[in-house]
Amino acid sequence: MSDYSSHIGIVGGGISGLIAGCTLLEQGHKTVIFERSKQLNEHGAGISVSPNAIRILDKLDLKNKFIKTSFSPQKFIFHYKNKKIGEISGDKEFITSTRQNLLQILYDKYIQLGGEILFNHDFNNLDQNKVQLNFKNNLSYNVKHILGCDGIKSPIREEYFPDSGEPVYSGYHAWRAMGTGELVDGKLHLGNGKHIVVYPANEKGEISMTAVVKNKDSVNDSWRSLGSKVEMLNDFKTFDQEIFSMIDSSKDIYKWGIYTRPPLNSIYIKNITLLGDAAHPMVPFLGQGGCMAIEDGYTFGMLVDKYQGNFRIVQQHYEKIRLKRTNKIQAQSLLQGKIYHLTNPLIVFFRNMFIRYTSVAKTNMKKIWNYDVDAEIKKLDNA
Ligand SMILES: Cc1cc2nc3c(=O)[nH]c(=O)nc-3n(C[C@H](O)[C@H](O)[C@H](O)COP(=O)(O)OP(=O)(O)OC[C@H]3O[C@@H](n4cnc5c(N)ncnc54)[C@H](O)[C@@H]3O)c2cc1C
Repeated sequence: MSDYSSHIGIVGGGISGLIAGCTLLEQGHKTVIFERSKQLNEHGAGISVSPNAIRILDKLDLKNKFIKTSFSPQKFIFHYKNKKIGEISGDKEFITSTRQNLLQILYDKYIQLGGEILFNHDFNNLDQNKVQLNFKNNLSYNVKHILGCDGIKSPIREEYFPDSGEPVYSGYHAWRAMGTGELVDGKLHLGNGKHIVVYPANEKGEISMTAVVKNKDSVNDSWRSLGSKVEMLNDFKTFDQEIFSMIDSSKDIYKWGIYTRPPLNSIYIKNITLLGDAAHPMVPFLGQGGCMAIEDGYTFGMLVDKYQGNFRIVQQHYEKIRLKRTNKIQAQSLLQGKIYHLTNPLIVFFRNMFIRYTSVAKTNMKKIWNYDVDAEIKKLDNA
């Protein structure tokens, strides 16, 4: 069996795991990813990647490839009850794409850098003293340090972080589909207790749709739960049916509950560090979960290099940099959900006026987008 005792062992080959892997390899550190799935696979879904994360893709020399295979909407148009209430201009570094495309680009880079990924490795448990990972296929490996990049349901978080908490239904369920059509702008359709986001995902005419409903009855949280078009349209009877024309060309429609977990007091313990959704799952209303996973992976990789593999120092600085930012964005994402799903007519009126006559929405997003990971790491020198 391969000896990985000089490697950083990454459990989970999603966005955070692949970014951490690429960053570490770029800096000359050995990594191995253990991924539960049989192969890289993603179920029809779009993703928006904002400038804070695009700058990191640029540092890994992936920006141009990602932009070429994705889309940059020139504007975002807001509607309420089928009437336009405002629009904001896009940003050339706010990119919409498919998750599949993003993952493929990260995976190709990881392999090109000489990274190893072992599919069919479903994490079972670990021995913290031996830094040994045990998988359900009965294989075990000793590694130098463990990164828990295993998503919202993270068994690593669940087993080894005392204040882990269970995934909690957020009170929203979402419909998701990828279809085709003619669309050049991003669109946000607001209604009482519901909203829909549609955007082009590439120049080939693929369109992503995410439609969210506030619903107190909890819904399954699997990405693979197929829903029916009839059921979805029933959720959105009062919305302009034209929005859903792309659904006809969609292979599948997925329905799932949106879950979160309470913030952790610490995102590392002994020789384990959590990244991405395993550390801080968030509701998707600011489109930042994947971007935070990208920031986490890059930050951790750069810190390992800066502190020459002194993992205790790396963990302390990683937590110092990441916890404050991700806690804040977790909270802001929840607030954004409340704003989108308002039902009180007077408050809805004022919200719509804000959208129409102010640039508050874009200013707030820009505060998130301006974050520069390298600048944060540099600040450590003066701390
Ligand atoms: C409706 C919706 C819309 C979203 N839209 C956006 C958006 O527009 N922009 C954005 O930035 N974010 C968005 N997000 C959030 C984003 O998808 C996540 O934050 C991101 O995927 C987290 O990356 P990750 O690597 O931490 O976890 P994941 O992407 O979930 O990857 C975890 C990996 O770990 C593997 N794994 C799990 N368990 C095990 C195990 N036991 N053993 C081995 N491997 C395991 C999984 O197979 C998977 O490959 C959205 C989320 C939702 C729900």
